[in-house]
Amino acid sequence: MWINLDPQELELIKVTLKQGGNHPAFTNLIDKLVEWEKDSRSPLHKHFNEIAFENYEDEGNLEIDRQGDETAMVSISEDDGAYVLAWQWVSNDEADICTECGDHPGSETYGTVGDGYDGLCPSCADKAEEEDDDGEEENT
Ligand SMILES: [Zn+2]
Repeated sequence: MWINLDPQELELIKVTLKQGGNHPAFTNLIDKLVEWEKDSRSPLHKHFNEIAFENYEDEGNLEIDRQGDETAMVSISEDDGAYVLAWQWVSNDEADICTECGDHPGSETYGTVGDGYDGLCPSCADKAEEEDDDGEEENT
């Protein structure tokens, strides 16, 4: 899971959790947040992040995550390396996001009857065909 919290938000969560007392569920979560913060600000994590940026950054396509709060999302592996958080661009076209209504395959409202075309989902494609048919009838 990834969530973008600024330092004040992270502190607010820790303070709120401390109000839960010494229950292990709260103290374990606080420890996890403190450890994440310490690791993410470590010179080793920053170094892996910098190397990833130098070697793999491709603006507009593959962008290495570089937080303004000096944290680096890095997962050190036991296999002589680390995973560094990066963002891969995926266009609406690749993801079949409907240019008309914004719906997408897999949503509950996405039409299942027929095919979409020209960037339209099945429902919008059907509506467009109906409008085209209406237009043709008026013109003939
Ligand atoms: Zn649509």
